[in-house]
Amino acid sequence: MRTLIKNGTIINADATTRADVLVDGEKIALIGTDLAAEVGATADRTIDATGRWVIPGAIDVHTHMELPFGGTFAKDTFETGTRAAAFGGTTTIIDFAVQSRGKALRDGLDAWHAKAAGNACIDYGFHMIISDVRDDVLAEMDTLVDEGVPTFKLFTAYPGVFLSDDGAIFRAMQQTARNGGLIMMHAENGLAIDVVAGQTAAAGNTDPYYHGVSRSPVLEGEATNRVIRLAEVAGAPVYIVHLSAREALNEVRRARDEGLPAFAETCPQYLFLSLEDMGNGFNGAKFVCSPPLRPADHADDLWLGLLKDDLQVVSTDHCPFDFHGQKEMGIGDFRKVPNGLPGVEDRVNLMHSGGVVTGRLTPNRWVEVISAAPARMFGLPQKGAVGVGLDADIVVYDPTRRHTISASTHHMNVDYSCYEGMEVTGRADVVLSRGKIVVDGDEWLGARGDGRFLKRQTSAFLK
Ligand SMILES: [Zn+2]
Repeated sequence: MRTLIKNGTIINADATTRADVLVDGEKIALIGTDLAAEVGATADRTIDATGRWVIPGAIDVHTHMELPFGGTFAKDTFETGTRAAAFGGTTTIIDFAVQSRGKALRDGLDAWHAKAAGNACIDYGFHMIISDVRDDVLAEMDTLVDEGVPTFKLFTAYPGVFLSDDGAIFRAMQQTARNGGLIMMHAENGLAIDVVAGQTAAAGNTDPYYHGVSRSPVLEGEATNRVIRLAEVAGAPVYIVHLSAREALNEVRRARDEGLPAFAETCPQYLFLSLEDMGNGFNGAKFVCSPPLRPADHADDLWLGLLKDDLQVVSTDHCPFDFHGQKEMGIGDFRKVPNGLPGVEDRVNLMHSGGVVTGRLTPNRWVEVISAAPARMFGLPQKGAVGVGLDADIVVYDPTRRHTISASTHHMNVDYSCYEGMEVTGRADVVLSRGKIVVDGDEWLGARGDGRFLKRQTSAFLK
């Protein structure tokens, strides 16, 4: 199957080009002007992208499909979550496999392979969450790097569940210094947070809003600095996930100014929502995630961080729980609200609307933070750009098309939207996943099981 995309404007991270793109099979075969005259006759179909952009399929490096949390599971399966991602212009996800305490990494990884294989509609990779750093687990990390799972997430939060102490984190970092892997950190001081949260609930403040105020941004800054310094001594790079607070950004910037290999992502919820959204009684449970939404003035700093490359990536931390039946488990105690927000479908459009349309980011920087940098950071050289020989993961994007975000029209399997009623400008018109059209306007043409496991390389940012 050969597809010609003609008359579009190709937006890559490093260049904007008016050119046609010829897709042959799963790959981009040719880029040039007037390909219609040259090879148009041999194409099986032609997409006229006049007035539209041709961008690399976006990559969301932080999702949690079917994640078990607090006695329930994130609602999206690999099928529903990846279909929603595709409608939003995302053609690759990297999800987090989870090691249970006392078990091998292998057990967790196998379980996630079983969830995704035959179900995912777009390509996917895995990071490995480590809950239990032991000698045998450290040895297993080397094996996983060789198997294309070279990134490992540890936590300074969630005592008793995911929290690793500083010694455990340090040992894992030493291991990646040797094997070329990358440690990703959820950096909040979970021990102090649990003290504050307990005192807050005991004082009768049980609404979801208090989830937000119990988790001080200073405790994110503290943990961020701590893990950066542990990595410095271990001689390893470190990547901070879902950075939400000015205090944490300041630590990443300071480390990068010192020349340390410290990296970070933020997420749309920290750019577009704020602590105020957590008010309004139990309705605030819709916005409970960790780190929590911050006072609105933090977002200005995060946008600046994206502009200046102190933040390299925008991911979603997509982890959807229904308001009815799931979030409601926390009525009367904010500590029992499942942590997580839906967002895998909205990231590309939100970042376009709030970044490019407002002039905060160039179109090229937009493509960089949603696709090109994620590909380089997470070892996917075949993705992240519209280039000859690369995977034909392509989005024909209409930067002028407007729509209103709503749970009544989104494709995520969750009963509410954090962005309900928000009007955004820009939308994916046609989405190709390895050469196959999976989304055409509002029509779904993809198929469950078409997504392939991506054996990833080590980070190109570190070479
Ligand atoms: Zn997460």
